Amino acid sequence: MSPEEAVTGADGSGAPVTVADRAACAALDAADPLSDQRALFHLPDGVIYLDGNSLGPVPHAVPERLAAVVRDEWGDGLIRSWNAAGWIEYPARVGAQLAPLIGAAPDEVLAADSTSVNLFKLLVGGLRLRPERRVILSEASNFPSDLYMAQGITHLLGDGYELRTVDAEELTDALNDDVAVLMLTHVNYQTGRMHDMAALTAAAHDAGAITLWDLAHSVGAVPLDLAGCNADLAVGCGYKYLNGGPGAPAFVYVRRAHQQDIEQPLTGWLGHAEPFAFGSEYRPAPGMARFQCGTPPVLAFAALEAALTLWEDVDLRALRAKSVALCELFIARVEADCAGHGLRLVSPREPALRGSQVCFAHPEGFPIMQALIARGVIGDFRQPDILRFGFAPLYLRYTDISDAVDVLRDILDTRAWDQPEFKARAAVT
Ligand SMILES: *Cc1c(COP(=O)(O)O)cnc(C)c1O
Repeated sequence: MSPEEAVTGADGSGAPVTVADRAACAALDAADPLSDQRALFHLPDGVIYLDGNSLGPVPHAVPERLAAVVRDEWGDGLIRSWNAAGWIEYPARVGAQLAPLIGAAPDEVLAADSTSVNLFKLLVGGLRLRPERRVILSEASNFPSDLYMAQGITHLLGDGYELRTVDAEELTDALNDDVAVLMLTHVNYQTGRMHDMAALTAAAHDAGAITLWDLAHSVGAVPLDLAGCNADLAVGCGYKYLNGGPGAPAFVYVRRAHQQDIEQPLTGWLGHAEPFAFGSEYRPAPGMARFQCGTPPVLAFAALEAALTLWEDVDLRALRAKSVALCELFIARVEADCAGHGLRLVSPREPALRGSQVCFAHPEGFPIMQALIARGVIGDFRQPDILRFGFAPLYLRYTDISDAVDVLRDILDTRAWDQPEFKARAAVT
């Protein structure tokens, strides 16, 4: 059975869909071209990790590399390591390492700061590229930090600047000649819905706007082609599908054609053309270097760089094929095995419209997720009622999906979620 046949039935005759049972899933695992990758991660016993879209697990390469950097480069090298160990090159070097994952050239990407801070840099930079326009256009259901950063910028700049949000279906119509920047998250954090980057970028360009794509839920999960889409600007996250560790450096992409004109508003010394001249007037560095602000967090960079070495051997088409197969299997198994329990699919049913996550709404979503986590099936809950499951193809097995759905069904059948301990909310959900 192929991954597609596992959930769709082989003959396309409209006969009842065959859903892979555990034995069929084991056969899919045995034939999985990515199966070697799992051994490269530390995955705790008894856990099925369906939250790699929020915080990726630690690759074995990371603790080894971190220990060496602390002992040799920091410990023995001391301040000499900025040059001798190439610490000062980390933002450009890790940016170049990321470039093939997003369809960019090595000198179009820089790793730095957090996604939110990078959104600030690129939103202001993008607005300045269209000085006669005043509107940032986005989607109402975009990730809150993206909207908050835009709100802060319009407040800071005053002068008629405005964030306008519409529903996804209305974006194209809303692209008029007020719009300076179209800011979108490629894969929606809540529903997994994936935008057509090429089409929306083309529509934005027809309207004279700059595009800013947030790839937080895309990079490392779906193949990306920023160059092929003519995308102008992008940001992305290092700690989700890239497994760079909690608070890992994020990244910035600026299409080469914009690099000399774009202004970076956080004019720290490391974005200066000559930081070690210690002059008193700011002068931006050429190219992507101006997107640095302050000193790079070397230990965090060491972890991210080690985690990114895993991608050198990954065929992104195989990654996407497995991602789709895992998501399809999960949807089919949940709908077959948990029928009648009130779960409603909120992710698009069509794989082409979906990233690598699947979300179901349920009025008791919060305690159900807590009960799942208590049983070792880790996903997360998003307001108001969404059970969110991320499928990272590097380390998940088809049998994990089968086992996870068995646990979900048991929790629903037995109402195991209906306990006070599962209803208390911690600071981080
Ligand atoms: C995860 C995520 C962020 C996170 O931003 P941080 O600054 O790293 O906290 C931003 N935007 C989107 C769409 C995300 O999914």
